[in-house]
Amino acid sequence: MRPESMKIFDELRNLNVLTVQNAKRDGEKVVGCYCTYTPQELILAAGAHPVTLCGTRQDPIPAAERDLPRNLCPLIKSSYGFAVNGKCPYFEASDVLVAETTCDGKKKMYELMSKIKPMHVMNLPQTSQGEAALAAWAQEMVVLKDWLAERFEVEITEEDIRKAVKLMNKERDAMRRLHATTKAKPSPITGVDLLVSVWTKGFNINKEDGIALVEQLTAEIEELTAQGLSPFTKETPRILLTGCPVGFGSEKVVRLLEESGAAVVAFENCSGYKALDRLVDESETKDVMVALAEKYLNIPCSCMTPNDGRLELIHKMAKEYQVDAIVDLTWQACHTYNIEAFVIRDYVQNQLNLPCMHLETDYSESDVEQLRVRVQAFLELVQGE
Ligand code: SF4
Ligand code: SF4
Repeated sequence: MRPESMKIFDELRNLNVLTVQNAKRDGEKVVGCYCTYTPQELILAAGAHPVTLCGTRQDPIPAAERDLPRNLCPLIKSSYGFAVNGKCPYFEASDVLVAETTCDGKKKMYELMSKIKPMHVMNLPQTSQGEAALAAWAQEMVVLKDWLAERFEVEITEEDIRKAVKLMNKERDAMRRLHATTKAKPSPITGVDLLVSVWTKGFNINKEDGIALVEQLTAEIEELTAQGLSPFTKETPRILLTGCPVGFGSEKVVRLLEESGAAVVAFENCSGYKALDRLVDESETKDVMVALAEKYLNIPCSCMTPNDGRLELIHKMAKEYQVDAIVDLTWQACHTYNIEAFVIRDYVQNQLNLPCMHLETDYSESDVEQLRVRVQAFLELVQGE
């Protein structure tokens, strides 16, 4: 029942490391990034490879807690832990790092991290509204382009950037089609497998190869749908997961939901669909830096205020994916998502008329059984509706 192509994604994890190490040996440049606000187009236009370094595992956290407070979001601690423990091949391979002033925890952690490797932090406006925010963010694009050009001693032309925009849009388009496969009822693939494929692909530095693999997996899943094959039934409760990013190693809530009889069919978070909803405007008449700024500024992360775009995206995805309930995940000590949970629950219950559960947890396994009880009780309620 599991798509055969998933085996390729399972093996890709080791292969990706080798590809990055080979690229480094051949003198190619690697840029580590931490957020979906990073305009990867500019890194590609500089002739370098962007890799995502967001920490999603528990094991580097003790190393991070030697320098950082314990009551900090696990994503920040895990990311920093990988930077100091020397065990992340992607961090080790990165020549430079690019980050943004998103939440307070991240931007203060970056001050420490910048002592380990050269880092450029983009000044992200805290609102996506108004001309001033857009102009400031477009200017930040120019500053990053100049920084990369100087660091790597290359010239970055408008043509290079437009070429990279097309490539990134092509990748987003392929990823959107992959996500769309779970709109089928029942979904032909588990949420865990969707997460694994999306996450693993993120470490593939050869964009064209990665796109081809995603297209192969999508075609296979579409074939499973055509044959009526699925790990679920038509009655399986369909869940939209919103909130903080989840990745390989921090997928426990997705697993718990599916082990308890649900199907996670939609991911409204920045490791899932959030950053794919909007493409970069490719029109030649538009200033390419403004086009990039528009796309990235409109990502509805909770560090933006107000963040109405998140409600709009949840609304759209809840309808398109025909979900029965919404689960809102907050990593412990993530203030922005935690505070937004109130608005999300009110909106989901009263505007969308769907059950909503807010879960706050971390990367450890210590609360798995408590979470399981809550998840099971919630699914009973969903099935009883
Ligand atoms: S949740 Fe926001 S700050 Fe965190 S990685 Fe996603 S876009 Fe960046
Ligand atoms: S999950 Fe929250 S606290 Fe953690 S990095 Fe993202 S926005 Fe910041």
